[in-house]
Amino acid sequence: MTDQIQELAQLVTESERTVVFTGAGVSTESGIPDFRSPGGIWSRYDPEDFTIQRFVSSPAARRAFWQMSSEGGLLADAEPNSAHYAIAELHRSGKLDCVITQNIDNLHQKAGVPDDRVFELHGNMQRVVCLGCRSRFPMPEMVQKFQVGLDIPDCPGCRGILKPDAVLFGEALPVVTLREATRRAQRCDLCIVIGSALVVYPAAYVPAYAREAGARLAIVNLTPTPLDHEAVVCIQGKAGEVMPRVLERVK
Ligand code: NAD
Repeated sequence: MTDQIQELAQLVTESERTVVFTGAGVSTESGIPDFRSPGGIWSRYDPEDFTIQRFVSSPAARRAFWQMSSEGGLLADAEPNSAHYAIAELHRSGKLDCVITQNIDNLHQKAGVPDDRVFELHGNMQRVVCLGCRSRFPMPEMVQKFQVGLDIPDCPGCRGILKPDAVLFGEALPVVTLREATRRAQRCDLCIVIGSALVVYPAAYVPAYAREAGARLAIVNLTPTPLDHEAVVCIQGKAGEVMPRVLERVK
């Protein structure tokens, strides 16, 4: 693995515009399970409870969501791990164009990547959005309202339904974010995939677009992905162990 880490460090050193594409695997070492690995989220929750149709039509599903959030939710005070910090270090070194993430956990920003450099294809669980007037509010504020009143919080402005500002099943991805992420992927010279199975579409098209447009592709993931054969470097290992070693060599 040391040779591959050296190779990836070399690619980063040669790059002028790196895009990092992350999935649930970059956050498992922060204690947030991914979806598909054994013990992952789908072995504990019913995906049907996370459809937009169910959320909008069923007060019981909404109550279950707020109850889950008030008990810490899926993200439960998670902190960035050494992979997030290594990516933030990449930003500080001036190499990083942006992070394009499928994650909704806010950990790239918490590690120090500025908001305007993080493109969240599936939204962010730290916010809620009103389905009526589209106003956004901090999630913790609304969770506190639920905890005090034990009633489902609604929009303080228009009394509309509040939904987590993360993309639920059955919802479209945010168009502007997806368009800008695609544009940046198509003009980067290096795309590093970290912790994604690359099977959730349309998000998984992003590294494919980068590759098609001529960028070099590198993949750091515990298990094989459908794009491994396109990658110059493919490292099967833990993001939190691999990425700091890469950054150490880039310095
Ligand atoms: P996935 O569950 O399909 O795949 C995650 C991949 O990460 C797997 O291939 C796994 O082998 C790999 N992995 C796990 N731990 C790793 C580690 N320490 N280092 C390197 N690789 C590791 O997740 P996905 O491809 O990201 O897609 C599922 C969807 O689930 C995403 O769209 C995302 O929005 C959502 N999700 C987000 C979070 C989060 O915000 N933290 C958590 C779970 C799911």
